[in-house]
Amino acid sequence: MQGNNGNITFIRDGVRLDGRRVDELRPIKIEVGVLSRADGSCYMEMGDNKVVAAVYGPREVHPRHLQEVSRAIVRYRYNMASFSVEERRRPGPDRRSYELSKVSREALEPVILTSYFPRSVIDIFVEVLQADAGTRTAGINAASVALADAGIPMKGLITSCAAGKVDGQVVLDPMKEEDNFGQADLPIAITPWGDITLIQMDGDLSRDEFRQAVELARIGCGKIYEIQRKALLDRYCQMESAAQEA
Ligand code: ADP
Repeated sequence: MQGNNGNITFIRDGVRLDGRRVDELRPIKIEVGVLSRADGSCYMEMGDNKVVAAVYGPREVHPRHLQEVSRAIVRYRYNMASFSVEERRRPGPDRRSYELSKVSREALEPVILTSYFPRSVIDIFVEVLQADAGTRTAGINAASVALADAGIPMKGLITSCAAGKVDGQVVLDPMKEEDNFGQADLPIAITPWGDITLIQMDGDLSRDEFRQAVELARIGCGKIYEIQRKALLDRYCQMESAAQEA
């Protein structure tokens, strides 16, 4: 397809390369409690992204000098598997994974009631098994559900999704081609009451486009929130009926 943006036309007659409208999310799947050794876990698909989140804790902090007397510390490790992208990625941490770990932790921390668990740590691990743009948002969504599955007291679930700009139009939840060759990418994370705990931006947006992108991402987060909630409710109903049968 010929056009602007690196010779690709991303939107034709209001329809994107993968058949979505500009305000549509990719299909989402959430499974809760997939890892028996973790205190809480979640597997999530957002389009072609596949991530798994595992939560351990609250537990003792090692090394001990990291302890905080009045609250639990939260650690978040984002890791992209070497097989998660088309070209094999060199395994191990890099600048990008340090950045994503930091911003993801900061996105979740405001809702975690860390003061309930002084001198302890809550460890969150996110492994990206397959990447297709938006892995930080998928990771945050999965981690948020895994924290709830671990029974960590929280003020609410954090939800995350991105908006982008392609062919001069603001679109919801960009996939890889739109992210890599588009004009902008703006991931956000929000609380259920609408406070933004993460906002980043790559590329260029006018003031109006920026407002439009934030609004679209907020609406996307609202839809994802309902899916997160339903996945947790299903899990608890399942556990309750298993307990009643036993
Ligand atoms: P996010 O996955 O949160 O959108 P980026 O914008 O940094 O984060 O990455 C966009 C996409 O580009 C990733 O989801 C992945 O598909 C691809 N990508 C990122 N880093 C690499 C890498 N080191 N090697 C190959 N592909 C990558």
